Amino acid sequence: MKIFIYGVHDGEFEPIDEYLKINNIKIEYTTEQLNSDTVSLAQGFDGISIKQSNHITDESIYKKLNTYNIKQIALRTAGYDMIDLKLANKYNLTITNVPAYSPNAIAEMALTHTMFLLRKMYLTIPRIKSHNFTWPGLLAPEIRNLTIGIIGVGRIGGVYAKLVSGLGAKVIGYDIVRREHENPVVEYQETLNELLRKADIISIHTPHDDSTENMINKKTLKLMKPTAYLINTARGPIVNSRDLIDALENKELAGAGLDTLDCEINYFQHNYHGKEIKSKELKKLLQMENVLITPHISFFTKTALKNMIDISLDSAIEVLTSKTSKNIVK
Ligand code: NAD
Repeated sequence: MKIFIYGVHDGEFEPIDEYLKINNIKIEYTTEQLNSDTVSLAQGFDGISIKQSNHITDESIYKKLNTYNIKQIALRTAGYDMIDLKLANKYNLTITNVPAYSPNAIAEMALTHTMFLLRKMYLTIPRIKSHNFTWPGLLAPEIRNLTIGIIGVGRIGGVYAKLVSGLGAKVIGYDIVRREHENPVVEYQETLNELLRKADIISIHTPHDDSTENMINKKTLKLMKPTAYLINTARGPIVNSRDLIDALENKELAGAGLDTLDCEINYFQHNYHGKEIKSKELKKLLQMENVLITPHISFFTKTALKNMIDISLDSAIEVLTSKTSKNIVK
């Protein structure tokens, strides 16, 4: 069996080699993403795997894969919004995803942002680098005296809840589905507004869909404590960046930790050193001292990458040999 992998990046070479040691398949890959220029690379292979954030809207790509006799696309991500499922169905392409590659990876990044902001590292690091070793402004609270609010207590939110609870914080949560038995450390709130009013740290862990797009906006930001920090490691469009900037400028919020942004496309994963950043929002957020931005790397751990490779290739083989897999996206 021969599988072609698109969009391979640095951290994936090692897990691919490990996979090949224990599975009798052939693999070739490119660092390029699947698009109309690269689709022909799939010719002669039995299956493909992709990892990309840009949407594949061009029907000719699906059509060409079908003419190359490709029967599936194994995504190495949980999200599948880059695929047009109607077109995939039209051209008999079975799509699989990796529903959970390592919730801990993302939860640990949310914890990193939490501690970075609480301990005022955003003030400490530049101060130290400029050889100023003074203390004013660096006085911090202890997390055990704080209330952490989690929006979306699912796989990742649940792990984050355990981590911060382990540090002694009070944990409150808001979710459209309450799983009290799975998350005994979480005190569920009836409404999102209740959570926003009470929390010292607000960490977002919902999917991006119609119900969550723009969830954090002018109105909801006004409900937060002026001393609160907002953390988004979920999906950019859940937080309205423009409104967040206004709230930060008006001191309605103490700061933000953002691993994902509504304006990240075209920037994250690209080197803009010496180049102009045209997005007004990204430019502004980068200038704000109390904002920590990481370029959508919460998932980027060795464990998560190995799971992404293993689970996606296992699913590709399952679909190709038995036409089924528990990871088929419907
Ligand atoms: P999950 O499905 O396990 O959990 C999501 C939770 O959100 C569920 O409990 C669900 O009931 C809840 N929810 C859905 N809509 C809601 C709403 N309108 N209000 C309140 N709660 C709502 O998902 P997960 O695996 O924990 O992923 C969480 C988020 O993390 C997703 O947005 C995912 O795309 C993102 N993610 C980010 C990275 C990264 O590298 N930054 C990596 C993986 C996943």
